[in-house]
Amino acid sequence: MRVVFHGVRGSVPAPGPSTVRYGGNTSCVEVRLADGALIVLDAGTGIRGLGGALLRERFAGPVNLMLSHTHWDHVLGLPFFGPLWLKQTHLVVHPLASDAQERFQRTIFDDIHFPVSAADIPARIEFARPESDSWRVGSATVRRIALNHPGASQGFRIDDDDGSSFAYLTDNELTAPAKIVTTLDELARFTEGVGLLVHDSQYVHGDMPAKRGWGHSVIDEVLELGAKALPGTLALFHHDPDRSDSDLDAIGDRSREWMQSRSARVEVIVAHEGLALEPRAR
Ligand SMILES: [Zn+2]
Ligand SMILES: [Zn+2]
Repeated sequence: MRVVFHGVRGSVPAPGPSTVRYGGNTSCVEVRLADGALIVLDAGTGIRGLGGALLRERFAGPVNLMLSHTHWDHVLGLPFFGPLWLKQTHLVVHPLASDAQERFQRTIFDDIHFPVSAADIPARIEFARPESDSWRVGSATVRRIALNHPGASQGFRIDDDDGSSFAYLTDNELTAPAKIVTTLDELARFTEGVGLLVHDSQYVHGDMPAKRGWGHSVIDEVLELGAKALPGTLALFHHDPDRSDSDLDAIGDRSREWMQSRSARVEVIVAHEGLALEPRAR
């Protein structure tokens, strides 16, 4: 399995000189499975670059799109995903976190937010409707889990037949003040021992209490999850748009010290645009 980050920013794109190293595009992660199947996690503005790469590669297989949820920062790139405009493309949209599917189609491609309506998209679009929260895609088993986020969000765990595994949990507030849908311990069990765990890490303690209830986690809570789930690598993700490159460097250093102080054998990294990883088999 190979995982490539095309957008790592949360909330809104944040291009500019202070974010040039980590990148300003919003959430989009590409996963290539052992059998060559493609899964795309989220369609933030990062998906535009991925689309260009797929066109250059002349990628011919189905594009399996899995959305954490349909907030703007996770769908804004979709109209600019090049393969959507080719009739030979087969886009498989996997189940959404809520019943927003129909509304979402109507809202983005409604002739107001974008000039082309849904009915005029040339690609073949299929909505997958698996019968449970665990299903097969290519050489992998995918499982999903509900997250703590206003309007609902979902996380995914992908276990490839080659033994590698990856979990993607974004837009999730681990200690939300409202009703907790899935607890930190439940998420630790869901992600236990994965090769790579990607988690929403938008906030630092200084952001609180002002941003409590906004649906994103404080980094120390994410580290706590990492120390329990013991992934090979924990990647901090969905960075706040106001976080500069030097802020993120400091967050990475501090997070590695934190993990060392727990003697937890977890590599902690701060995800950046263009980063490619091969999650190890555990
Ligand atoms: Zn988001
Ligand atoms: Zn959101």
